[in-house]
Amino acid sequence: MKRPKLIAGNWKMNTTVLEGLKTLDALLQGLSKQNPKVQVALAPPYTHLSDFQKKLKGSSICLAAQNVSDKLNGAYTGEVSVLMLKELGVRKVIIAHSERRQYYGETNDSALEKIKVVLKHEIYPIYCVGESLEDRESGHHFEVVEEQVTSVLYKLSEEKLPKITIAYEPVWAIGTGKTATPEQADEMHAFIRDVVGKRFGDDLGAQLQILYGGSVNAANAASLLAMPHIDGALVGGASLKPEEFLTIIQSAG
Ligand code: PEP
Repeated sequence: MKRPKLIAGNWKMNTTVLEGLKTLDALLQGLSKQNPKVQVALAPPYTHLSDFQKKLKGSSICLAAQNVSDKLNGAYTGEVSVLMLKELGVRKVIIAHSERRQYYGETNDSALEKIKVVLKHEIYPIYCVGESLEDRESGHHFEVVEEQVTSVLYKLSEEKLPKITIAYEPVWAIGTGKTATPEQADEMHAFIRDVVGKRFGDDLGAQLQILYGGSVNAANAASLLAMPHIDGALVGGASLKPEEFLTIIQSAG
């Protein structure tokens, strides 16, 4: 079965709005020549979303957010709700990125709440999972990822599964310049499919869109994206460099 490919850029807390708009212009210019065959999503900081929505009118780039509240409104200082994101044209949201887990105490449980709320409002979650270096070196990486997958996905009903994208991002590869080998990444993606297949059936496991993330760049993208279980990439640092991001997009299709 052929799964759609997605290249998503996570800008994290980088660029002011003006800087971001310049980068977006360069990217749009490049894409207009490239005519990509894969879906492209961009997750800039919240402050950029309104301007990006205007710029992206008529473009095939999908606007994404880096986080969302599990509440819809109310006394939750500093939070941003799915209703606010929806109004700004956001269609996907990254949930439980390892930096959110590490610095802001997000857990599998909070990820589940967020995923439920965004799905209810027809925004597609990109749920991040991945083991630490310690987990991998001690041989616990499959266990850790299995727990991240089952404690969230197993609590959702079957019809929600096709709306979810998983991003497998080994923590030791994020922003470190170290990448999982294509074989290591593909092995984990196949494992995630099996875990999902055990609960929901092999067909849904086979349909699940799974991205790889962790120091993807212009030089390593093609070999990662050629693997049978890798359906795209969640790209951090390299997505801020238009030329490099365009090369990654080209490598995907
Ligand atoms: C990320 O932010 O999800 C990521 C994978 O970052 P980088 O590509 O910089 O490692």
